[in-house]
Amino acid sequence: MGNSDRREFIKRAAALLTLAGGGRANSADEPMHESPRTDVDYRRIATEEAFITRELAQQYDRLLRDGLSDDAGFNAMWRGIGSNERFRSGLIDVGEGRIRDMDAAGISLQLLLLTTPGVQVFEAGLATGLARATNDELTAAVSRHPQRFAGLAVIAPQDPPAAARELERAVRTLDLKGAVINSHTFGEYLDEPKYWAIFEAAEALDAPIYIHPRPPPAPMIEPYLRRGLSGPLGGFSAEVYLHILAIITAGVFDRFPRLKIVIGHLGEGVPYLMYRLDYMQHHAEVPGLRGKAQPTRLKRKISEYIRENIYVTTSGMAWEPAIKFAQEVIGADHVLYAMDYPYQYDVAEVVTTDNLSISDYDKKLLYQLNAERLFSLMGT
Ligand code: MN
Repeated sequence: MGNSDRREFIKRAAALLTLAGGGRANSADEPMHESPRTDVDYRRIATEEAFITRELAQQYDRLLRDGLSDDAGFNAMWRGIGSNERFRSGLIDVGEGRIRDMDAAGISLQLLLLTTPGVQVFEAGLATGLARATNDELTAAVSRHPQRFAGLAVIAPQDPPAAARELERAVRTLDLKGAVINSHTFGEYLDEPKYWAIFEAAEALDAPIYIHPRPPPAPMIEPYLRRGLSGPLGGFSAEVYLHILAIITAGVFDRFPRLKIVIGHLGEGVPYLMYRLDYMQHHAEVPGLRGKAQPTRLKRKISEYIRENIYVTTSGMAWEPAIKFAQEVIGADHVLYAMDYPYQYDVAEVVTTDNLSISDYDKKLLYQLNAERLFSLMGT
């Protein structure tokens, strides 16, 4: 290709990108750059960004080293993550190194979540104490860089009343923005009424609960583990799918209609199945196969709870067709950007997200406005 041909080719490619991206492309004379644009009219807020305290990492190490955990999913996961230097140091650093990575990726603000499985592998007393200590440390990290970090509280569902109190302290006193629950707690899910004190507090505080995956519990994990599928290739999605369907069909949103639940990975397939969920709620021939979801037990269609009470983030899913589908079926005001730092730190994915062929306003909702509203980040 000669020089003028090359210029013509670049110009055409840029024009095509403008069409595809619905926004500005690089000028024809510039090479395509891989770092995200800075001249955008949104700030990028990433809403599922993992961290761990040094103390908690050591507690995890101790569980493994002393053979204290019979949670095969946790053991397999932390053996991998805890010994991976990039992940380990990336999780622990809530200061300069993390901010350098955010700057390189054009991320203005990270919403920090204690990494999975949080304190949900410890007995209730220890877990409750660790939750408090972790929230205090998180708050200190946020207050060192208030323009760059906000945080979700960690709570210990093992002791539901204490978890509700800690959520209240975290939101009212520490200015944390909600809470993360790393899915099951010793094989139990939040659809069981003994946990509903947490939902009651969350609704009263208008504090969203982020249900983040972890590997499935003992009764469920064996077939996944045997195949190496207990994490992102299977177990994570199965776990969150079960959790969210359990919450919906137990009537949690009838009891707490203003409760907000957030899930990552664009909803772990749930939005894609909404039609079938509604159909089977009303038509399943065999009652035993539709759980508690009979129309007489729930006030609304399953899809209505998903649209009203559930928010999804794009963590790990920088994929245009899926993002557009989620925006279409649950609403552009319920889909938020997330990166899943440090696990999926990939600057090219920010460029992909910048170039989505959606309206400028929907892009601003995705990157900024939804997060500001849902997590009360307006002042940060
Ligand atoms: Mn994550």
